[in-house]
Amino acid sequence: MGQRACPAAELNFNEVFVPDDRVVTREGDGAAGTMLVLASSRPPVGAIATGIARGAYERLTSWLQEDPDAKGLLDRQHVQLALAEMYEEIHLARQAYMDAATVLESRVIGAFKHPLLKTFEMLPKAVRRSGPVRKALSSERAKDMEIEMLIRGTDELSITRSVGISSMAKARGADTAMKVTGMALELVGLHSGPIRQELQKLWRDAKLTQIYEGTNQLNRSEVYRALCSGESQPWLPLGKAARAAISKDNASIKGGTR
Ligand SMILES: Cc1cc2nc3c(=O)[nH]c(=O)nc-3n(C[C@H](O)[C@H](O)[C@H](O)COP(=O)(O)OP(=O)(O)OC[C@H]3O[C@@H](n4cnc5c(N)ncnc54)[C@H](O)[C@@H]3O)c2cc1C
Repeated sequence: MGQRACPAAELNFNEVFVPDDRVVTREGDGAAGTMLVLASSRPPVGAIATGIARGAYERLTSWLQEDPDAKGLLDRQHVQLALAEMYEEIHLARQAYMDAATVLESRVIGAFKHPLLKTFEMLPKAVRRSGPVRKALSSERAKDMEIEMLIRGTDELSITRSVGISSMAKARGADTAMKVTGMALELVGLHSGPIRQELQKLWRDAKLTQIYEGTNQLNRSEVYRALCSGESQPWLPLGKAARAAISKDNASIKGGTR
C-alpha cells in the first residue's frame, strides 16, 4: 500500500546451505541479536508514523486556514475538537518513542557503541569486504567477540523490557498515524483539490507502519512479555504459572546466548 507501493516478497530459507564464512555469530545466538536489533529499530518506525500523522495534521490546518473551500470550517466546534484530539494523539505518540529512545540509550544501545565496531565502520568498504578481513570475521574468536559486544552492558531483563517499550512506541505511533490521517480525511470529506489525494497517500503510508517491523499485534505480544518479565519486580503482577510460561518462552527466544 504505502511508501510508493514498495514491493515486498517472502524469502524462503528451507534447505539453504550457508558457507562458514557467511555465518553471522554462533549458531543459536541469532535470536538474541535479532531482538536487540528490533529493540533499536522499532522506535524509529514509531517516529516515522508520528511524522506521517504530523504531516497530515499540518497539511489539514493549512488547508483549513488558506483554502476558500474550507471557509468557515475552523469556526465549527466539531472541527476544533477534532484538531485538538489529533494534536493530543501526535503528542502522546511522540512521547512514546522519545521514552523508548531514552531507555535504549541508557540500557541497550551501548552494545552498538563498542570502539572496535566504530573503528570497523570507519574502514573503506573495499577493506571491510576483502578476503582477509572476511576470514578474520568468521573466526571463532571474532564470533565470541561479536556476542560479547552485543550483550555487553545489558542483561536479559533489560533486553526484554527494552523490546517491550520499543514495541509500544512502534504500535502507538502506527495506530496514531492511522487515526490522525483518517480523521483528517473525514474532515476534508468530498472537497475537491489536491488535499484529498495528499491525505489518502499519507493514510496508505500510515497503514504500512501497522504492518512492517512486526505487525502491531506481534509488537503487543512483546509488550505483554515485557509486562510479565522480572522475578522480583514484574511490571504486571501475575500468578506463578503465567510467569513460568512466559519465562520458558523467553528462554527459548534467547537460547544460546548465556
Ligand atoms: C511494504 C512492505 C515492506 C516491507 N519491508 C520489509 C523489510 O525491509 N525487511 C523485512 O524483513 N520485512 C519487511 N516487510 C515484511 C513485514 O515485516 C511483514 O509483512 C510483517 O512482519 C507481517 O508479516 P506477514 O506479512 O508474514 O504477516 P503474518 O505474520 O502472516 O500476519 C498476518 C496477520 O496475522 C496476525 N498474526 C500473525 N501471527 C500472530 C500471532 N502470533 N499473534 C497474533 N496475531 C498474529 C498479524 O498481526 C496479521 O494481522 C515488509 C512488508 C511490507 C508490506
